[in-house]
Amino acid sequence: MYRHKAIYPGSFDPITNGHVFIAERAAALFDEVEVSVLINSEKKGAFSLEERVEMARTALAHLPNVTVNSFTGLLVDFLRQRKSSIVIRGLRALSDFEYEFQMALMNRKLEPEMETLFIVTDAKYSYLSSHTLKDVFRLGGEVRSMVPPNVYEKLLERFRPETPDA
Ligand code: ADP
Repeated sequence: MYRHKAIYPGSFDPITNGHVFIAERAAALFDEVEVSVLINSEKKGAFSLEERVEMARTALAHLPNVTVNSFTGLLVDFLRQRKSSIVIRGLRALSDFEYEFQMALMNRKLEPEMETLFIVTDAKYSYLSSHTLKDVFRLGGEVRSMVPPNVYEKLLERFRPETPDA
């Protein structure tokens, strides 16, 4: 059992203030936290893997014990490779629970030593997901308070190139 380092995996397409909140809480609990951006070949993200990693790195630069990398394949294999036994996941509403519960049990079946730790989100981020964020932004909604400043800049570039500071 490796306890000093936790892995926080996800799509982070893009990273939001909800993700940052979870990373900050995890950083206070562990010596090292590695945010691991998932390479998902089936799902074409809004941002490339490199963009997602770079956005997350900038957004988490204030946390000295947090690093950002990417991974592909099975999470349990990645944990072994990184010498970690702990996976961090954020919990928003009850709706997250069923999927997260399934994933946690499946991962435990594959690797009994692995532990999934859930950190409950802050109430103000409980409705926030990367998916809804992008939808709202595309339709002209204000999302500045929901993402780190560097992510907001990237959203403007990607979805509203003609209005650099809307
Ligand atoms: P999403 O597209 O739903 O944001 P991710 O795969 O990027 O999903 O999420 C990675 C992890 O971060 C998951 O454990 C997810 O539950 C968690 N997470 C996502 N959004 C939030 C939020 N607003 N507050 C807390 N945790 C979150």
